[in-house]
Amino acid sequence: MSLTKDITLPDGLKISLPTGLFINNEFIESKSGKTIDSINPSTGEVNATVYCAEEADVDLAVDYAKKVATSWRDTTGVERGEYLNKLADLMAEDREILGSLEAWDGGKTKATNAVYDVDECVSVLRYYAGWADKIHGSVIQNDPKKLAYTIHEPYGVCGHIIPWNYPLLMAIWAIAPALAAGNVSILKTSEITPLSMLYVGLLVQKAKFPPGTFQILSGEGKVCGNALASHVDVQKISFTGSTATGRLIQKAASANLKAVTLECGGKSPIIIRADADIEQAVKWTAMGIFFNQGQVCTSNSRCYIHADVYEDFLQKLKEHVLEAYPQGPVYEDKSVVGPQVSQMQFDKILGYIDIGKKEGARVVMGGERNTEADLAKGFFIKPTVFADCKPEMRIINEEIFGPVLACSKFSSDEEVLKFANQTEYGLGAAIFTKDIAVAHNMARNIESGMIWINSSNDSDLHVPFGGVKGSGVGRQLGQYGLEHYTQAKAIHVNLGTRL
Ligand code: NAD
Repeated sequence: MSLTKDITLPDGLKISLPTGLFINNEFIESKSGKTIDSINPSTGEVNATVYCAEEADVDLAVDYAKKVATSWRDTTGVERGEYLNKLADLMAEDREILGSLEAWDGGKTKATNAVYDVDECVSVLRYYAGWADKIHGSVIQNDPKKLAYTIHEPYGVCGHIIPWNYPLLMAIWAIAPALAAGNVSILKTSEITPLSMLYVGLLVQKAKFPPGTFQILSGEGKVCGNALASHVDVQKISFTGSTATGRLIQKAASANLKAVTLECGGKSPIIIRADADIEQAVKWTAMGIFFNQGQVCTSNSRCYIHADVYEDFLQKLKEHVLEAYPQGPVYEDKSVVGPQVSQMQFDKILGYIDIGKKEGARVVMGGERNTEADLAKGFFIKPTVFADCKPEMRIINEEIFGPVLACSKFSSDEEVLKFANQTEYGLGAAIFTKDIAVAHNMARNIESGMIWINSSNDSDLHVPFGGVKGSGVGRQLGQYGLEHYTQAKAIHVNLGTRL
């Protein structure tokens, strides 16, 4: 198989897409010759076939990473920042191509979604480029005859395993702080959406990163992901994906006691109190579940509405979604909701919709696939709202990861707090109220890594992102995200003759 494929994207852009493994700044075949087909969610057809990394390819990438790790660590922070800024410039230049690839391979609507991921990648790269020359330890002096200080050292070789819902963004969230802090990175993309990051490999070449600094492997989780997570020469693993896989990663990482960051699943509640600004609450609720087809780890997929405003809220939500969340082909400018990413996700979500109906939840809207002419071939599911959900229902407790909102009624703050904390997850939560004391008290008492008061899902690259309980350990983004890519070394200096 050739190492590039000439493609004309549906919006007319022509590219030569690499299909190899990006190792040591070159695209190469996998040792076994194994490949993966990447499927178009809008049509079910194969977009491209790319090489698939297995254990031997991971070993090769780790060898190259080890070779460059010390010299990369010893570059100045300013230099590392320049490389990251260069990559940001190149991604910004190719915004249309990268956005188009995300739309094509990931099913994101291009104009209303995919291109914004590229903008966010650029901002994240620039943000951590800015940090690269500002990483330093502290001086600790208790005894005047003894000086101690810390330096913040990179781990060395870092592995990053990411999901398919934000193929570019999850990659950049992970590699930008790692490289800024002086680590070298091996990224394993999702086998479902490998294409856009292969194109980024070309930009890494163009930016002239030292070979081996940033390598990109397409590969399957059980084989390539596991090889990376368990490799004894990889010192740190960052994982973004489901809670079930997160557990496996933590086990695999124990091989050499790797540092681990886990960004896992969620079932985030959104609470609408009776005193809420209902218009605002409706808009944020809809955005928080239907943006990106509900494939967002922090999606507010459980909505708790006070009994006094329950039916009014549901009616307004339905009207708003019908108007503001049109479903359609991913290259049409007005489309907001695209297809689910894969046949497997499509089947899983329709399965949950069926479960919701059987469990006795009321379908307010949607509840089925979209069979309109130009959507019938793809994995399109109509934005779905269930009402009258009970605490024990599966659609209330399990992550569906699709455009499905489960709504319930509540009558007191105590009751809704119990509902909010009832799942195994603790990623995000949102509260709508005009009572600031209640808002802050709820924010304190909800078991979750992130809380939004009077908004939802407006994450910010300057602010830490991550979960508690089954949603993971560690944080990404902001200064907190950077701290996960260095460890403090303590240096003791004897200034006298103390023995
Ligand atoms: P997944 O767990 O199936 O896969 C995630 C990644 O792990 C993929 O690259 C996959 O190949 C790899 N993988 C699978 N099995 C592996 C193994 N045994 N060893 C090593 N790697 C393995 O998740 P997904 O379906 O790709 O993504 C959806 C999930 O991701 C949802 O649960 C969602 O909530 C979560 N997610 C979380 C965040 C966050 O920041 N908390 C962000 C995005 C997505």
